[in-house]
Amino acid sequence: MARIVMKFGGTSVADLDRIRSVAGRVKRQLEAGDQVAVVVSAMSGITNQLVGYCEALSPLHDAREYDAVVATGEQVTSGLLAIALQTLGVDARSWHGWQIPMATDGAHAKARIEAIEGGRLIERMQGGQVPVVAGFQGLGPDHRITTLGRGGSDTSAVALAAALRADRCDIYTDVDGIYTTDPRIVPKARRLAKIAYEEMLELASVGAKVLQTRSVELAMKERVRVQVLSSFGSDAAPYENGRDSLPGTLVVDEDEIVEKEIVAGIAYSRDDAKVTVRRVPDRPGVAAAVFGPLAEAHVNVDMIVQSTGADGTTDMTFTVGKTDLARAIQVLQAARGDIQYGEMLTDADVAKISVVGVGMRSHAGVASTMFRTLSDRSINIQVISTSEIKVSVLIGVEYTELAVRALHNAYGLDVA
Ligand code: ADP
Ligand code: ASP
Ligand code: MG
Repeated sequence: MARIVMKFGGTSVADLDRIRSVAGRVKRQLEAGDQVAVVVSAMSGITNQLVGYCEALSPLHDAREYDAVVATGEQVTSGLLAIALQTLGVDARSWHGWQIPMATDGAHAKARIEAIEGGRLIERMQGGQVPVVAGFQGLGPDHRITTLGRGGSDTSAVALAAALRADRCDIYTDVDGIYTTDPRIVPKARRLAKIAYEEMLELASVGAKVLQTRSVELAMKERVRVQVLSSFGSDAAPYENGRDSLPGTLVVDEDEIVEKEIVAGIAYSRDDAKVTVRRVPDRPGVAAAVFGPLAEAHVNVDMIVQSTGADGTTDMTFTVGKTDLARAIQVLQAARGDIQYGEMLTDADVAKISVVGVGMRSHAGVASTMFRTLSDRSINIQVISTSEIKVSVLIGVEYTELAVRALHNAYGLDVA
């Protein structure tokens, strides 16, 4: 007998038929003798709709009220799935974040889980009941609902698996595992049987939405075994082929992977915007004058380039999340007197393309292959940033798919 957390994403619970199918899957897992807790996302499209309502009323809305609105999506699904399970004769009960409680810090709209009280849920599971937990939400120190940032149900699931001391956290989604890149834009992408925590962490942080970054960070820290699987297709019993031939992708320690590729995967993100402040007097302290106020306003800055002209001024270009762009503009306009820039330009039509692999630590030439491949396609690179196991470039958004496909081929990742 194992204790398993099963998480179902938005497309997996998109309508009542999908919810019935998920209920069937949960029931079969129970029948295999396992204890099960479930974490659900909102039905697909619902969170976007709720976010849209908040933005339409006010682009700089109060984050506490945003959380009060967007957390409702998951609450609906947790109740519906509990009903669907009960209809199949399974004892099930829905749980909102505050009822467990799933305690978070107070950073509304991007809260971090701090502690989960797992005891009551474990008792219920031991008695054969299935807790159906609303993902994406928690309870802040101000006793208000918080949410964990987009894609946060993955993190709810991993955190719950850690708190329940589960044997595994199965993330059910609309693709059958983690691929070398998004299989929706590169049909030749390959499914990876295993991927290292560190690689998945880096891929997630640069845009591979299959797992939320924080969920991978947490899995790595708490040693949670994460498996990514499809909730579509065969409704046959889990592990019908026996436990040696698990479907999907397991996220594991680097040394569990025998055949390491230099590049494990390629990710893209259209969630960033580029900001340039031009003709800033080039003196010590300018970077602090630009980035200090942004940090105080909780605007995360990612890639940065600075280029100094002959006239003693400098241009600073950097990226921020698209959702933070309005705030960034407001902050920089307010700080114009201190920074003394000539003008500010913004561009939201950009994409960040990243190649990731632990093999880069010991192999040179990954970056130069990237630059050559893009230049062969006449794709202009606007900003570059690197880490030990990653190279990222910023390009025009219209080249996203072309760039990802060309790089996937250039690193020999295409399926034969
Ligand atoms: P869910 O609603 O189940 O959480 P998401 O949309 O958040 O699903 O994540 C699944 C999606 O992630 C897939 O449909 C796929 O388009 C995308 N994706 C991006 N990169 C990858 C990758 N490397 N491997 C698999 N899927 C990826
Ligand atoms: N429903 C939330 C979102 O769309 C959380 C999730 O799906 O993981 O971001
Ligand atoms: Mg997701």
